[in-house]
Amino acid sequence: MEFNAYAVTETGGKLKPFSFEPGELGEREVQIRVEYCGICHSDLSMTNNEWNMTQYPFVPGHEVVGIIEDKGPHVKHLDTGQRVGLGWYSSSCLHCEWCMSGDHNLCPSAVGTIVGRYGGFADRVRADATWVIPLPGEIDRSAAGPLFCGGITVFNPIVQHHVRPTDRVGVIGIGGLGHMALRFLHAWGCEVTAFSSSPSKEEQARALGADHFVHSMDARALNEVAGSLDFILCTVNVDLNWNAYVAALRPKGRLHIVGAVPGPLALEWFPMLSGQKSVSGSPLGSPATIARMLAFCARHDLAPKVEVIAFDRVNEAFERLESEKPAHRLVLAQG
Ligand code: NAP
Ligand code: ZN
Repeated sequence: MEFNAYAVTETGGKLKPFSFEPGELGEREVQIRVEYCGICHSDLSMTNNEWNMTQYPFVPGHEVVGIIEDKGPHVKHLDTGQRVGLGWYSSSCLHCEWCMSGDHNLCPSAVGTIVGRYGGFADRVRADATWVIPLPGEIDRSAAGPLFCGGITVFNPIVQHHVRPTDRVGVIGIGGLGHMALRFLHAWGCEVTAFSSSPSKEEQARALGADHFVHSMDARALNEVAGSLDFILCTVNVDLNWNAYVAALRPKGRLHIVGAVPGPLALEWFPMLSGQKSVSGSPLGSPATIARMLAFCARHDLAPKVEVIAFDRVNEAFERLESEKPAHRLVLAQG
Protein backbone atom coordinates (compact mmCIF):
# COMPACT_ATOMS: atom_id res chain seq x y z
CA MET A 1 0.00 0.00 0.00
CA GLU A 2 1.32 3.46 -0.89
CA PHE A 3 1.35 6.30 1.66
CA ASN A 4 0.08 9.67 0.43
CA ALA A 5 1.97 12.61 1.85
CA TYR A 6 2.94 16.23 1.22
CA ALA A 7 6.61 16.82 0.45
CA VAL A 8 8.98 19.58 -0.60
CA THR A 9 11.61 18.53 -3.10
CA GLU A 10 14.05 21.44 -2.69
CA THR A 11 15.04 24.08 -0.14
CA GLY A 12 12.31 26.70 0.20
CA GLY A 13 9.99 24.80 -2.17
CA LYS A 14 6.22 24.41 -1.82
CA LEU A 15 4.62 21.28 -0.42
CA LYS A 16 3.14 19.04 -3.10
CA PRO A 17 1.35 15.68 -3.03
CA PHE A 18 3.91 12.86 -2.83
CA SER A 19 3.31 9.10 -2.68
CA PHE A 20 5.77 6.44 -1.57
CA GLU A 21 5.93 2.74 -0.80
CA PRO A 22 6.77 2.36 2.91
CA GLY A 23 8.25 -1.15 2.74
CA GLU A 24 7.78 -3.82 5.37
CA LEU A 25 6.57 -2.79 8.85
CA GLY A 26 9.30 -3.25 11.50
CA GLU A 27 8.82 -5.83 14.26
CA ARG A 28 8.59 -3.13 16.93
CA GLU A 29 6.82 -0.54 14.79
CA VAL A 30 3.23 0.62 14.59
CA GLN A 31 1.49 2.15 11.61
CA ILE A 32 -0.75 5.12 12.41
CA ARG A 33 -3.58 6.35 10.20
CA VAL A 34 -3.16 10.11 10.63
CA GLU A 35 -6.22 12.11 11.69
CA TYR A 36 -4.52 15.38 12.69
CA CYS A 37 -1.02 16.84 12.56
CA GLY A 38 0.08 20.09 14.20
CA ILE A 39 2.48 22.48 12.43
CA CYS A 40 5.55 23.21 14.54
CA HIS A 41 8.07 25.93 13.72
CA SER A 42 10.63 23.10 13.43
CA ASP A 43 8.69 21.83 10.37
CA LEU A 44 9.24 25.23 8.78
CA SER A 45 12.94 25.34 9.76
CA MET A 46 13.48 21.81 8.41
CA THR A 47 11.63 22.62 5.17
CA ASN A 48 14.06 25.49 4.64
CA ASN A 49 17.05 23.33 5.68
CA GLU A 50 17.97 25.90 8.35
CA TRP A 51 19.70 23.19 10.43
CA ASN A 52 21.55 21.55 7.51
CA MET A 53 20.03 18.14 8.11
CA THR A 54 17.04 18.07 5.74
CA GLN A 55 16.83 15.28 3.19
CA TYR A 56 14.62 15.84 0.14
CA PRO A 57 11.97 14.86 -0.73
CA PHE A 58 11.06 16.08 2.73
CA VAL A 59 7.75 15.21 4.43
CA PRO A 60 7.25 17.39 7.56
CA GLY A 61 4.90 16.63 10.46
CA HIS A 62 5.72 15.48 14.00
CA GLU A 63 2.63 16.38 16.05
CA VAL A 64 0.47 13.46 15.01
CA VAL A 65 -2.80 12.13 16.37
CA GLY A 66 -4.27 9.07 14.72
CA ILE A 67 -5.42 5.48 14.97
CA ILE A 68 -3.15 2.43 15.01
CA GLU A 69 -4.03 0.33 11.99
CA ASP A 70 -1.15 -2.16 12.03
CA LYS A 71 1.60 -3.26 14.40
CA GLY A 72 4.69 -5.45 14.35
CA PRO A 73 4.72 -8.83 16.15
CA HIS A 74 6.80 -7.55 19.11
CA VAL A 75 4.37 -4.72 19.96
CA LYS A 76 2.38 -6.00 22.94
CA HIS A 77 1.26 -2.88 24.81
CA LEU A 78 -0.62 -1.15 21.98
CA ASP A 79 -3.54 -2.37 19.89
CA THR A 80 -4.94 -1.69 16.48
CA GLY A 81 -7.89 0.71 16.70
CA GLN A 82 -6.28 2.62 19.58
CA ARG A 83 -5.97 6.43 19.32
CA VAL A 84 -2.38 7.58 19.90
CA GLY A 85 0.03 10.46 19.46
CA LEU A 86 3.52 10.70 17.95
CA GLY A 87 5.96 13.59 18.34
CA TRP A 88 9.47 14.62 17.29
CA TYR A 89 11.14 11.30 18.14
CA SER A 90 10.10 8.09 16.44
CA SER A 91 12.71 5.73 17.92
CA SER A 92 15.61 5.46 20.35
CA CYS A 93 18.03 2.60 20.99
CA LEU A 94 16.43 1.40 24.27
CA HIS A 95 19.74 0.07 25.64
CA CYS A 96 22.04 3.06 26.18
CA GLU A 97 22.60 4.62 29.60
CA TRP A 98 20.04 7.33 28.83
CA CYS A 99 17.26 5.07 27.56
CA MET A 100 17.88 2.68 30.46
CA SER A 101 17.52 5.63 32.89
CA GLY A 102 14.22 6.76 31.40
CA ASP A 103 15.77 9.70 29.56
CA HIS A 104 15.00 8.33 26.10
CA ASN A 105 14.88 11.87 24.70
CA LEU A 106 18.62 12.17 25.44
CA CYS A 107 19.51 8.96 23.56
CA PRO A 108 22.39 9.77 21.17
CA SER A 109 20.80 7.46 18.56
CA ALA A 110 17.25 8.81 18.88
CA VAL A 111 15.72 9.34 15.43
CA GLY A 112 13.59 12.39 14.63
CA THR A 113 10.27 11.59 12.95
CA ILE A 114 11.15 13.99 10.10
CA VAL A 115 14.91 13.48 10.04
CA GLY A 116 15.90 11.08 7.26
CA ARG A 117 12.38 9.63 7.25
CA TYR A 118 8.89 10.68 6.20
CA GLY A 119 6.73 12.48 8.79
CA GLY A 120 3.09 13.05 9.57
CA PHE A 121 1.97 15.40 6.78
CA ALA A 122 0.56 12.21 5.30
CA ASP A 123 -2.32 9.80 5.54
CA ARG A 124 -0.09 7.33 7.38
CA VAL A 125 3.09 7.38 9.43
CA ARG A 126 5.16 4.73 11.23
CA ALA A 127 7.21 4.78 14.41
CA ASP A 128 8.75 2.54 17.03
CA ALA A 129 6.02 1.62 19.55
CA THR A 130 8.02 3.11 22.47
CA TRP A 131 7.42 6.61 21.13
CA VAL A 132 3.73 6.09 20.29
CA ILE A 133 1.69 7.18 23.30
CA PRO A 134 -2.01 6.40 23.94
CA LEU A 135 -4.19 9.50 24.03
CA PRO A 136 -6.51 9.74 27.08
CA GLY A 137 -10.16 9.94 25.99
CA GLU A 138 -10.71 13.19 27.94
CA ILE A 139 -8.41 15.18 25.61
CA ASP A 140 -9.94 16.59 22.42
CA ARG A 141 -8.26 14.66 19.60
CA SER A 142 -8.33 17.60 17.19
CA ALA A 143 -6.32 19.68 19.69
CA ALA A 144 -3.99 16.99 21.07
CA GLY A 145 -1.36 16.70 18.31
CA PRO A 146 0.68 19.76 19.42
CA LEU A 147 1.15 18.21 22.87
CA PHE A 148 3.49 15.59 21.38
CA CYS A 149 6.15 18.11 20.32
CA GLY A 150 5.46 21.67 21.46
CA GLY A 151 3.60 20.61 24.60
CA ILE A 152 6.17 18.15 25.93
CA THR A 153 8.99 20.56 25.08
CA VAL A 154 7.59 23.13 27.52
CA PHE A 155 6.21 20.62 30.07
CA ASN A 156 9.46 18.67 30.48
CA PRO A 157 11.52 21.61 31.86
CA ILE A 158 8.85 22.24 34.50
CA VAL A 159 9.40 18.67 35.73
CA GLN A 160 13.19 18.50 35.18
CA HIS A 161 13.87 21.77 37.00
CA HIS A 162 11.34 21.27 39.78
CA VAL A 163 9.34 24.42 39.12
CA ARG A 164 7.16 24.97 42.22
CA PRO A 165 3.62 26.35 42.43
CA THR A 166 4.97 29.19 44.55
CA ASP A 167 7.43 30.23 41.81
CA ARG A 168 7.16 33.33 39.69
CA VAL A 169 7.85 32.32 36.13
CA GLY A 170 8.19 33.97 32.72
CA VAL A 171 7.49 32.69 29.21
CA ILE A 172 9.20 34.41 26.27
CA GLY A 173 7.40 34.17 22.90
CA ILE A 174 3.68 33.46 22.84
CA GLY A 175 3.48 31.22 19.79
CA GLY A 176 2.82 27.48 19.47
CA LEU A 177 5.08 26.45 22.36
CA GLY A 178 4.67 29.61 24.43
CA HIS A 179 0.88 29.54 24.54
CA MET A 180 0.96 25.96 25.87
CA ALA A 181 3.57 26.97 28.46
CA LEU A 182 1.21 29.69 29.75
CA ARG A 183 -1.61 27.15 30.16
CA PHE A 184 0.64 24.57 31.88
CA LEU A 185 2.33 27.01 34.27
CA HIS A 186 -0.96 28.63 35.24
CA ALA A 187 -2.46 25.20 36.02
CA TRP A 188 0.77 24.30 37.89
CA GLY A 189 -0.05 27.17 40.25
CA CYS A 190 2.68 29.66 39.32
CA GLU A 191 2.47 33.42 38.95
CA VAL A 192 3.08 33.78 35.21
CA THR A 193 4.53 36.66 33.16
CA ALA A 194 4.24 36.58 29.37
CA PHE A 195 7.04 38.29 27.40
CA SER A 196 5.95 39.01 23.86
CA SER A 197 7.25 41.09 20.96
CA SER A 198 3.61 41.51 19.87
CA PRO A 199 1.65 43.93 22.11
CA SER A 200 -1.53 42.80 20.33
CA LYS A 201 -1.21 39.41 22.07
CA GLU A 202 -1.81 40.77 25.58
CA GLU A 203 -5.48 39.83 25.79
CA GLN A 204 -4.84 36.33 24.43
CA ALA A 205 -1.89 35.82 26.79
CA ARG A 206 -4.00 36.77 29.80
CA ALA A 207 -6.82 34.46 28.66
CA LEU A 208 -4.25 31.63 28.39
CA GLY A 209 -3.15 32.11 32.00
CA ALA A 210 -0.68 35.00 32.15
CA ASP A 211 -0.98 37.19 35.25
CA HIS A 212 1.29 39.86 33.75
CA PHE A 213 2.25 40.89 30.22
CA VAL A 214 5.53 42.55 29.23
CA HIS A 215 6.22 43.98 25.78
CA SER A 216 9.65 42.43 25.26
CA MET A 217 10.86 45.04 22.75
CA ASP A 218 10.40 47.79 25.36
CA ALA A 219 13.71 47.99 27.27
CA ARG A 220 12.13 49.99 30.09
CA ALA A 221 9.39 47.39 30.62
CA LEU A 222 12.06 44.66 30.77
CA ASN A 223 14.04 46.67 33.35
CA GLU A 224 10.97 46.99 35.53
CA VAL A 225 10.82 43.20 36.11
CA ALA A 226 14.51 42.95 37.14
CA GLY A 227 15.13 40.53 40.01
CA SER A 228 11.56 39.20 40.09
CA LEU A 229 11.42 35.74 38.46
CA ASP A 230 12.52 32.25 39.53
CA PHE A 231 12.31 30.57 36.15
CA ILE A 232 12.08 31.89 32.58
CA LEU A 233 11.21 29.61 29.66
CA CYS A 234 12.25 30.98 26.27
CA THR A 235 10.44 29.61 23.21
CA VAL A 236 11.61 32.02 20.51
CA ASN A 237 13.90 31.06 17.62
CA VAL A 238 15.85 34.32 17.49
CA ASP A 239 18.65 35.99 19.42
CA LEU A 240 17.44 38.22 22.27
CA ASN A 241 18.90 40.55 24.87
CA TRP A 242 19.80 37.60 27.13
CA ASN A 243 21.40 39.80 29.77
CA ALA A 244 18.08 41.56 30.34
CA TYR A 245 16.42 38.20 31.01
CA VAL A 246 19.21 37.04 33.33
CA ALA A 247 18.70 40.35 35.14
CA ALA A 248 14.99 39.55 35.44
CA LEU A 249 15.86 36.41 37.45
CA ARG A 250 16.02 36.26 41.24
CA PRO A 251 19.07 34.63 42.85
CA LYS A 252 19.22 30.89 41.98
CA GLY A 253 16.95 31.61 39.01
CA ARG A 254 17.14 29.78 35.69
CA LEU A 255 16.75 30.92 32.08
CA HIS A 256 15.76 27.79 30.14
CA ILE A 257 15.86 28.07 26.34
CA VAL A 258 13.94 25.54 24.23
CA GLY A 259 13.69 27.70 21.10
CA ALA A 260 16.18 26.89 18.34
CA VAL A 261 18.28 30.02 18.83
CA PRO A 262 20.74 30.31 15.93
CA GLY A 263 23.88 31.82 17.35
CA PRO A 264 26.22 31.75 20.34
CA LEU A 265 24.70 33.55 23.35
CA ALA A 266 26.27 36.85 24.41
CA LEU A 267 26.06 36.63 28.20
CA GLU A 268 27.67 38.77 30.87
CA TRP A 269 29.00 36.26 33.36
CA PHE A 270 29.30 38.25 36.59
CA PRO A 271 25.51 38.37 37.19
CA MET A 272 25.52 34.57 36.79
CA LEU A 273 28.18 34.25 39.52
CA SER A 274 26.80 36.74 41.98
CA GLY A 275 23.22 35.49 41.69
CA GLN A 276 24.10 31.78 41.29
CA LYS A 277 21.97 31.73 38.14
CA SER A 278 21.75 29.11 35.39
CA VAL A 279 21.13 29.04 31.66
CA SER A 280 20.04 25.72 30.15
CA GLY A 281 18.27 23.97 27.30
CA SER A 282 16.51 20.66 26.62
CA PRO A 283 14.98 18.53 23.85
CA LEU A 284 11.36 17.35 24.05
CA GLY A 285 10.74 14.81 26.87
CA SER A 286 10.74 11.07 27.51
CA PRO A 287 7.77 8.79 26.71
CA ALA A 288 7.02 8.54 30.46
CA THR A 289 7.02 12.34 30.81
CA ILE A 290 4.73 12.61 27.77
CA ALA A 291 2.29 10.24 29.51
CA ARG A 292 2.55 12.35 32.70
CA MET A 293 1.81 15.50 30.70
CA LEU A 294 -1.25 13.86 29.12
CA ALA A 295 -2.54 12.82 32.57
CA PHE A 296 -1.96 16.40 33.81
CA CYS A 297 -3.91 17.77 30.81
CA ALA A 298 -6.76 15.31 31.38
CA ARG A 299 -6.94 16.19 35.10
CA HIS A 300 -6.95 19.95 34.52
CA ASP A 301 -9.01 19.91 31.33
CA LEU A 302 -6.11 21.46 29.38
CA ALA A 303 -5.38 21.31 25.67
CA PRO A 304 -3.55 23.45 23.16
CA LYS A 305 -5.55 26.22 21.52
CA VAL A 306 -5.79 25.20 17.89
CA GLU A 307 -7.11 26.26 14.53
CA VAL A 308 -7.95 23.23 12.39
CA ILE A 309 -7.20 23.48 8.65
CA ALA A 310 -7.64 20.92 5.86
CA PHE A 311 -4.45 19.14 4.77
CA ASP A 312 -4.72 20.45 1.21
CA ARG A 313 -4.28 24.02 2.57
CA VAL A 314 -0.90 23.18 4.07
CA ASN A 315 1.10 25.77 2.08
CA GLU A 316 -1.21 28.56 3.20
CA ALA A 317 -0.90 27.35 6.83
CA PHE A 318 2.93 27.36 6.60
CA GLU A 319 2.89 30.93 5.28
CA ARG A 320 0.55 32.04 8.06
CA LEU A 321 2.75 30.51 10.79
CA GLU A 322 5.63 32.62 9.49
CA SER A 323 3.81 35.87 8.79
CA GLU A 324 1.15 36.00 11.53
CA LYS A 325 3.05 34.39 14.44
CA PRO A 326 -0.25 33.10 15.89
CA ALA A 327 -0.63 32.69 19.67
CA HIS A 328 -2.06 29.23 19.05
CA ARG A 329 -1.23 26.16 16.96
CA LEU A 330 -2.34 25.51 13.39
CA VAL A 331 -3.37 21.85 13.01
CA LEU A 332 -3.94 19.98 9.74
CA ALA A 333 -6.89 17.61 9.54
CA GLN A 334 -7.44 14.71 7.14
CA GLY A 335 -10.79 14.95 5.33
P1 NAP B 1 6.08 29.79 16.70
O1 NAP B 1 4.70 29.26 16.86
O2 NAP B 1 6.48 30.40 15.40
O3 NAP B 1 6.34 30.79 17.91
C1 NAP B 1 7.54 31.48 18.08
C2 NAP B 1 7.23 32.83 18.76
O4 NAP B 1 8.48 33.51 18.94
C3 NAP B 1 6.39 33.78 17.93
O5 NAP B 1 5.01 33.57 18.03
C4 NAP B 1 6.79 35.11 18.54
O6 NAP B 1 6.07 35.33 19.76
C5 NAP B 1 8.26 34.90 18.90
N1 NAP B 1 9.10 35.51 17.87
C6 NAP B 1 9.20 35.17 16.57
N2 NAP B 1 10.04 35.99 15.92
C7 NAP B 1 10.50 36.86 16.84
C8 NAP B 1 11.41 37.95 16.80
N3 NAP B 1 12.02 38.30 15.66
N4 NAP B 1 11.66 38.61 17.94
C9 NAP B 1 11.06 38.27 19.10
N5 NAP B 1 10.18 37.25 19.19
C10 NAP B 1 9.91 36.57 18.09
O7 NAP B 1 7.16 28.61 16.94
P2 NAP B 1 7.03 27.29 17.86
O8 NAP B 1 6.46 26.19 17.05
O9 NAP B 1 6.43 27.68 19.16
O10 NAP B 1 8.58 26.94 18.06
C11 NAP B 1 9.42 27.83 18.78
C12 NAP B 1 10.87 27.37 18.70
O11 NAP B 1 11.04 26.17 19.44
C13 NAP B 1 11.35 27.05 17.29
O12 NAP B 1 12.69 27.48 17.16
C14 NAP B 1 11.30 25.53 17.25
O13 NAP B 1 12.17 24.99 16.29
C15 NAP B 1 11.74 25.22 18.65
N6 NAP B 1 11.43 23.88 19.18
C16 NAP B 1 12.35 23.32 20.03
C17 NAP B 1 12.08 22.09 20.60
C18 NAP B 1 13.04 21.48 21.57
O14 NAP B 1 12.98 20.27 21.78
N7 NAP B 1 13.88 22.24 22.24
C19 NAP B 1 10.87 21.43 20.29
C20 NAP B 1 9.95 22.06 19.46
C21 NAP B 1 10.23 23.31 18.91
P3 NAP B 1 5.67 36.84 20.22
O15 NAP B 1 4.88 37.40 19.10
O16 NAP B 1 4.88 36.59 21.46
O17 NAP B 1 6.97 37.56 20.49
ZN1 ZN C 1 8.23 20.40 16.85
